[in-house]
Formats: sequence, C-alpha cells, structure tokens
Amino acid sequence: MARDYFSTRRVLVTGGAGFVGSHLIDRLIDRGDEVLCVDNLFTGAKANITHLLGHPRFEFLRHDICFPLFVEVDAIFNLACPASPIHYQHDPVQTTKVSVIGSINMLGLAKRIRAPILQASTSEVYGDPTQHPQTEAYWGNVNPIGIRSCYDEGKRCAETLFFDYHRQHNLNIKVARIFNTYGPRMHPADGRVVSNFIMQALAGDDITIYGDGSQTRSFCYVDDLVEGLIRLMDSPEGFTGPVNLGNPVEFTIRQLAELVIEMTGAKSKLVEQPLPSDDPTQRQPDISLARTELGWEPEQNLREGLEKTIGYFHKLGNG
Ligand code: NAD
Ligand code: UDP
Ligand code: UDP
Repeated sequence: MARDYFSTRRVLVTGGAGFVGSHLIDRLIDRGDEVLCVDNLFTGAKANITHLLGHPRFEFLRHDICFPLFVEVDAIFNLACPASPIHYQHDPVQTTKVSVIGSINMLGLAKRIRAPILQASTSEVYGDPTQHPQTEAYWGNVNPIGIRSCYDEGKRCAETLFFDYHRQHNLNIKVARIFNTYGPRMHPADGRVVSNFIMQALAGDDITIYGDGSQTRSFCYVDDLVEGLIRLMDSPEGFTGPVNLGNPVEFTIRQLAELVIEMTGAKSKLVEQPLPSDDPTQRQPDISLARTELGWEPEQNLREGLEKTIGYFHKLGNG
C-alpha cells in the first residue's frame, strides 16, 4: 500500500531542475502537492527552480539517481536523464547508466514504498522509424551501436525494466513516450533545434540546418506535455501505456528555421551543415491512445509556443 495521506500528496520528481521537470514541478506545486526535486544538476540548473526555494511544499536534493535513494513519497516521476544529443553524447556511458541503473533504483524505491512511478521515455525508442506516423504498437528501428544508442537503447531498456517490475512485482507503472518538446527554460546551449535556431536568430548569426532540412519533427509546447504527464500519472492503475505524448503537427526543419526568422525579424542566413549520423528522417506521433485514454491533446500551436519561447530567450540574453 502507498503511504496513507490526508490532503497533501508527496511527489518525487527526478530531473526536476531540468527543462520539463521544472515546469512539471510548477504545476504540481500549483495544485497543492508537496514536491521533492532530486537532481544532480548535470544538465539542469538551479535557476530553473530558484523561484521555488523557500516554498513550504518544495524541497531540493542534489543527488545522482545511479545511487540508491531512500525517501518516502506517494508518487514518482522519473525524468532524470540528459535529453539533448550534445549532452547525452558527452558522456554516453553515464547516459546509459542513468536510464538503466537509475531506473532500477527508482523502481526499487517504488517497489519498497508501493508508489506509482512514471517513466519519461521518448520517441527515440522508435529510432529512425519506418512506420509513419508512429503508433505505440510500432517496435522501432534503432541502431544498437551508433552515437545515439546510449540514449535510445538506454530508454528502451528502461521501458523493459518498467514492464518487468510491473509484471514481476505488480508495480503501478506509467510510461510516456515524449516527442520533441520545447519552451522556456530549455538550456540555451544544449544544441536542440528550437533553442539553437532562436539563439542564432536573436544574435543575428547563421541558422545551422543539418543536412538539407527536409527531415521532420513535431514540436510540442512544454505546458501541453506537462498536462499529459499529469493526466497519465492520474490515470487508473490498469493503464500503463506506453503512450505517445507529442504534438502531431509535423514540420520540416527548414520550415522551422523560416518561421523563427520571420518571428524574430532576424537577418540570419540559412546555412547547411553535415547531418549527424542516425538522425531520424521523420517523426510524428499518433496520439489516438492519449486522446482516448487520457482525453489529452496539445492546445498550443507552434507559432504561439515559439512566441513565448523567443520571449524567454530574448529576456535571458538581456539579463
Ligand atoms: P533536461 O536535460 O533539461 O533535464 C534532465 C534533468 O535530469 C536535468 O536537470 C539533469 O541535471 C538531470 N539528471 C541527469 N542525470 C541525472 C542523474 N544521474 N541523477 C539525477 N538527475 C540527473 O532534459 P528535459 O528536456 O527536461 O528532459 C526531461 C526528461 O524527458 C528526460 O528523461 C528526457 O529523456 C525526456 N524527454 C524529453 C524530450 C524533450 O523534447 N525535451 C523528449 C523526449 C524525452
Ligand atoms: N533501492 C533504492 N531505494 C529504495 C529501495 C531500493 O534506491 O527505497 C534500490 C536498491 O539499492 C536496489 C534497487 O533499488 O539496488 C533495486 O531494488 P530491488 O528491491 O528491486 O532489488 P534488490 O534490492 O533485490 O536488488
Ligand atoms: N538540427 C538542425 N540544426 C541545429 C540543431 C538540430 O538542423 O542547429 C536538426 C537535427 O539534425 C534534427 C532536428 O533538428 O534533425 C531535431 O534535433 P534535436 O537535437 O532538437 O532533437 P532530436 O534529433 O533528438 O529529435
């Protein structure tokens, strides 16, 4: 049995000082939960949670989830893992460890305290997909030995662990397959396409298109994703997922660059650079399952989301 509690739910968010985690915590605090944020600050930043320090229902613990953690909570969101290719390729062995050893520790914790646990998985489990759009039933097309494998295979193994703890130990698990998400608090130097293009446009630098820019992605605004994660955690115990969470509207990378230039009024030129290996050529979530099971779908279109994100980076640049 999960800890009996009266009105305040205690929620652990690993990776809570990161981009998605910090927005999730804002929402949990807003709705009255008590939040324990565990983060080793590898890619996250204290700045993302500074506004919460001192809040009576917020606590921060600097800790690496590759080491055991003994705490008492009512629910666990497991988000700890570097997410941008530059960061997860910086120390690939550590990236696999976070997904595998980190997940084992968080599952062991969930098992001991009988708490529901949600895994932030990824569209990368589909690799360079041969099925389009991707449904949860698709098993993926992943290179096991390439430069993205530490992330892709780590996250795939984490999903395996979640489902084995569910089958073997009857754990209440939830697996979200998150597609490209963007918004304020993305790290300006983490190399992801939305932050790169906005930073480059605001500085008047060239916009770096990898390859010819015909590859596609579907971009979800962070508030929409957070709503999906919370709905998934709150869904009935029998619903495990995996469930795709993302915005199904697909853009080419060139279209994104042109939109950022238009919206910032930048004079930047588009320049092509080599496409990194194993870069997926197309990606679009089929979100029928999230619509049916969670009553969820994204509300923000790319232009609305970019406006807020550009505003954030603009302010960051001006101190
Ligand atoms: P992020 O890098 O901003 O956040 C990850 C957080 O995890 C950081 O605060 C980092 O310091 C922390 N962390 C890393 N290793 C840790 C460890 N060993 N112990 C404790 N903390 C650790 O990335 P994000 O975009 O916020 O992603 C959050 C989660 O969502 C990740 O699991 C990521 O794989 C997943 N996800 C994100 C996206 C996206 O587009 N943003 C897409 C798919 C999946
Ligand atoms: N674990 C943890 N916190 C807990 C309980 C377990 O960090 O509250 C870790 C523990 O160190 C172990 C892992 O989770 O290595 C897996 O735990 P489990 O009980 O599944 O496996 P076992 O301890 O039997 O290897
Ligand atoms: N990309 C690009 N220019 C950049 C950064 C990324 O053209 O400056 C491309 C990248 O090659 C990929 C897409 O944009 O095709 C999305 O990249 P990101 O790293 O944001 O996410 P992921 O590849 O993990 O979906």
